[in-house]
Amino acid sequence: MQIGILAVQGAFLEHEQMLSRLGASCFEIRQKSDLTRPMDGLILPGGESTAQGKLLRDLGMLRPLQEQIEKGLPVFGTCAGLLLLAKEIQNDTRRHLATMDMVAVRNAYGRQLGSFSAEAAFDGLGTIPMTFIRAPYIESVGAGVRVLAVVEDRIVAARQGNQLVTAFHPELCSDPRVHRYFLDMIRARQGVGCHAASLVFESSEKACYPC
Ligand code: GLN
Repeated sequence: MQIGILAVQGAFLEHEQMLSRLGASCFEIRQKSDLTRPMDGLILPGGESTAQGKLLRDLGMLRPLQEQIEKGLPVFGTCAGLLLLAKEIQNDTRRHLATMDMVAVRNAYGRQLGSFSAEAAFDGLGTIPMTFIRAPYIESVGAGVRVLAVVEDRIVAARQGNQLVTAFHPELCSDPRVHRYFLDMIRARQGVGCHAASLVFESSEKACYPC
């Protein structure tokens, strides 16, 4: 399994480290030619969605990635990555990949609540720790979107087919369950059993090649 991690800006290293812990291989996507590599899944990290969206456009990667996601490539967007995937952003006129049927709100928690932690239920995973940094939340979702987590009446994780988003940063916590959930999504698409990820996590510290 090869996971591409968008590495033009933001917190991509932390995702690489988490995948490495789970024994999954990954590579960085920095330019259009990186998209020629076989990719089983894609991670869009946190950072600054405006900068990431502009770089995706300028580097000619926006449309190719949009096409792959529309064809079913599993994608996991955290924070800014969620905003890249949102079809609508309530307080921003810009749209980026716009493949996921939801309305997001940018920098939704205000200045004084720019960063905070919470613990809340995540569908199928139990209670997990959540770190929010100048986070968005999801105001509403379309019919095909499943809500996976809610904090203080606000949607903070959701899934539409092979698209997974979190407003928080699971890569900044030591808890690997959300990444494992994403790896299981990829395995399910490939028709492979879903329990290998947990076994790998227990037994392997394999390097994340070539990150
Ligand atoms: N506030 C950022 C944005 O609007 C997202 C913050 C993050 O990714 N931690 O893009």
